[in-house]
Amino acid sequence: MKKYIGAHVSASGGVDNAPVNAHAIGANAFALFTKNQRQWVGKPLTAEEIDHFKANCQRYGFDAKYILPHDSYLINLGHPEAEGLAKSRAAFLDEMQRCEQLGLKLLNFHPGSHLRAISIEESLDRVAESINQVLDKTAGVTAVIENTAGQGSNVGNEFWQLRYIIDRVDDKSRVGVCLDTCHTYSAGYDIVTQYDKVFDEFEQTVGFGYLRGIHLNETKKTLGSHVDRHDSIGQGLLGMDFFRRFMKDPRFDNMPIVLETPDESRWADEIALLRSFE
Ligand SMILES: [Zn+2]
Ligand SMILES: [Zn+2]
Repeated sequence: MKKYIGAHVSASGGVDNAPVNAHAIGANAFALFTKNQRQWVGKPLTAEEIDHFKANCQRYGFDAKYILPHDSYLINLGHPEAEGLAKSRAAFLDEMQRCEQLGLKLLNFHPGSHLRAISIEESLDRVAESINQVLDKTAGVTAVIENTAGQGSNVGNEFWQLRYIIDRVDDKSRVGVCLDTCHTYSAGYDIVTQYDKVFDEFEQTVGFGYLRGIHLNETKKTLGSHVDRHDSIGQGLLGMDFFRRFMKDPRFDNMPIVLETPDESRWADEIALLRSFE
């Protein structure tokens, strides 16, 4: 198997439950929050929790390369104001350190929002500087920028913006991107009828060499809507041909592919269906 597929599973009751939950749906990859995603400060991880997490990953055969933790939704690394930016940077550092403690290699995050107070470029400059500061204080964890639908004042919806950030990160070995298929389509990239053109453009602008993971979601919203609404595989606007093609595309081998589809009772079936396309 070259495709590593899972879902963003629950870590409620402790991070060590995430690999158990991922195993239960037939996954060989997964995503998790390492703390409550709606709080600024999480309880520090205990040595016991860390040991149990690592033991469960080993028991169920999850390699850290295929685990894609996601940071808190509160963090805005492109924040226009000093206070909000400092708070976000501190929280992001904590998230990176939690990943280090757990032996994880990747941390996926939404780049940020300009909040209509500064330009897109000024916000992206702040994101890059945030990454530089945090990479300076950590080791072994790659900052993985997720493309967005461009909802509200979110930055990171166009490929050039991902490149703009990468260009300003000092240690390019620890920065990468995650493409969310729902966001890509909502942002205006027609992966349904222009699959080759879109991914050629991605290669030219960002480069598959920086691709560290995929959020494989269907979408409820139309091309270019800039609205972020995930749907289950088999229900949305991308259609099954897209997923068939994706599963056969070697450019997406050997990286975590994570479902963030809304009905978790379908995850096992969605994974099995995707596997049948391999
Ligand atoms: Zn996503
Ligand atoms: Zn989304």
